[in-house]
Amino acid sequence: MKTRTEKKFLVRKIKEGIVIDHLPVGLGFTILKILDLVPAKYTVVLAHNVESKKLGRKDILKVQNVWLEENKLKIIALLAPKATVNYIKNWKVERKIRMKIPKKIEGIIKCPNALCITNDEIEKKFIKTKFEVLKSNLIRCKYCGYLMSREEIASNLSKGNFFVYSQKF
Ligand SMILES: [Zn+2]
Repeated sequence: MKTRTEKKFLVRKIKEGIVIDHLPVGLGFTILKILDLVPAKYTVVLAHNVESKKLGRKDILKVQNVWLEENKLKIIALLAPKATVNYIKNWKVERKIRMKIPKKIEGIIKCPNALCITNDEIEKKFIKTKFEVLKSNLIRCKYCGYLMSREEIASNLSKGNFFVYSQKF
């Protein structure tokens, strides 16, 4: 039995921003990190390990006054293909985006292989990293063949490629 307060907390709506629903348990923290928000600027609600009809248990992430750029959606799709991203405007769902696993990822993730050409001091100025998506949570470097799983993907996102669009809707 859910208590009244718990229910209220879970369904609490936000006026404007995003709601990322159906995240596998534990991934809420990772996605929050990926969003790379300026801490003092945004109101964030992370509901961790809540009941879900679809997944059994799930995480939900709500961020006020934020809009996501394409690169971030790609990463979310890669790590949590069952997630949905809802854009909220005036308390209502304006747009619901179902995740589509990208076929390739370019320039967003670093290759962890130190010997990979994309990590060469000179070469890396001229080439972008390229990964082929084999399946959700498994990608392969086009240059050196290095295979990366979810944990590695999350910790090898190149900083500076991400922007959070904060905008008035
Ligand atoms: Zn590589």
